[in-house]
Amino acid sequence: MHDLYEQAEREPLNQLFAWSTTTRTGLRSELETEPPPGLWTKACRQADLCFGKDCSFYKDCYYQKAKAVEQQAHILVANHHLFFADMATGGNVLPFYKAVVFDEAHQVEDVATDYLGVEVSNYSVRYLLDSLMSQRTRKGMLTRLTNQGAEAQVAREMTDGLRLAGENFFLDLAGLLRREPALRIRRKNIIPDMLSEPLLELKDALLELKAESQEEEQEVKAFASRAQTLASAIRLNLEQGAEGFVYWAERENTRYRLVASPIDLSETLRENLFAKTDTIVLTSATLSAAGTFTYIKNRLGLDAPGELLLDSPFDFEKQALLYISPCLDDQQAPEYQQKFDEELKAILSVTQGRTLVLFTSYSQLKKSAVTLRAEMPGLGVLCQGEMPAYRLVKQFKGISNAVLLGTASFWQGIDIPGDALQCVVIAKLPFAVPDDPLVEARMEQLKNPFFEYQVPQATLLFRQGFGRLIRTRTDRGAVVVLDSRIMTKNYGKWFLRSIPKCRVTDDREELRKFFENIRRS
Ligand code: SF4
Repeated sequence: MHDLYEQAEREPLNQLFAWSTTTRTGLRSELETEPPPGLWTKACRQADLCFGKDCSFYKDCYYQKAKAVEQQAHILVANHHLFFADMATGGNVLPFYKAVVFDEAHQVEDVATDYLGVEVSNYSVRYLLDSLMSQRTRKGMLTRLTNQGAEAQVAREMTDGLRLAGENFFLDLAGLLRREPALRIRRKNIIPDMLSEPLLELKDALLELKAESQEEEQEVKAFASRAQTLASAIRLNLEQGAEGFVYWAERENTRYRLVASPIDLSETLRENLFAKTDTIVLTSATLSAAGTFTYIKNRLGLDAPGELLLDSPFDFEKQALLYISPCLDDQQAPEYQQKFDEELKAILSVTQGRTLVLFTSYSQLKKSAVTLRAEMPGLGVLCQGEMPAYRLVKQFKGISNAVLLGTASFWQGIDIPGDALQCVVIAKLPFAVPDDPLVEARMEQLKNPFFEYQVPQATLLFRQGFGRLIRTRTDRGAVVVLDSRIMTKNYGKWFLRSIPKCRVTDDREELRKFFENIRRS
């Protein structure tokens, strides 16, 4: 068993073993410390390698126990990822269901796009090759087989050859991504396909291997099928063989990937979800934009659903104040960042911490963090990326003068009820980047993409950010918008109409008095 694991993984693996004797669920979310990247992938259940009833651990298996409970359940709680993994595999993941309730339904399009797309990365190719025979340890499925005959030797040589081909393939891809982290690919065969043919040859070679047991046979077939899937994904991406998809490439640290994403999911969801399921409820605090569900209905292919738009249970007119900075309109101006930081410092000197600042770009977050740490040393500045999100939130709650700076996931994923959070600063209206390949492809399909796509999408995210502030009936605080376009541009009213009614001001003195009152009460 230890042959599968790298030296650095041995200690965390021993911790996993120790944990496996005490856990009652086997769920990763119960682990106290995150295992190193790659270790969990090796240790967790993999559908194509699961022996099911033939497995000697079947009776003790946490997955099988959970499955048994699931089969008996009247109501099953699954996340969106599991739901769309089920749809992408034609219903192989979840038991039969007649009704679905999507909570946080504003995220359905994004998650469905991920699962219904086709991608290949240097990590996925390397993972297959390392599973067959690790580059470092020279051990893997191909060295574990009982019969180490000539066929296994052929497959091992192919694995080495493929590793080289893979390096060259992803070097070419890295060359395309030299200047930008994401790139739309409009031309077929933009880089030479030196991988799909050898992957298919490897698949054939794997199927030639002489398995000595049912388990070995299943393992060999699973890896052959993975090689075939990777080859197909590479071909589809390079030949751009699917209609209605946008093709793009992305780099993220050392990971390079080619992705084909469905542009418009409405037809797919209409046919494979809404037409097939008797009852579907989509619910979220942020499904409507400017008082209507038009945007979400168009995006998801909902033709004539029943609709109910409910007011917030909180009294925002009493509990919240919206302050809009009157002087941050031109974000292209050379002095913008300096003016932004000045305004942010002025706000923080009023709030004295207990503030969450939501950015739309990590580079702006970093610039402001440097300024705040240098010029406001009395504040505890915490930045997304410097430690896991849950630890940042824990620290934030523990320090009264803390300022938490976050981007993307923090707009939706942070829940800090009570006095610990009294101010949410929105740095900019959260418009999606128009030259993001997927956003660009979606906008191209619309007559008026700005008002049909960008504004409503940004409005939903703005409402999410706004919603971080008031989490209970006793919370009080201010949302500060450091983007004057909300007042000066005609689309600004979309944003203002989308949030609950509350007092609005552009007078910082009023903000100061509001916080004085909070402190006194
Ligand atoms: S049944 Fe066996 S192979 Fe399948 S998940 Fe459980 S332990 Fe793993």
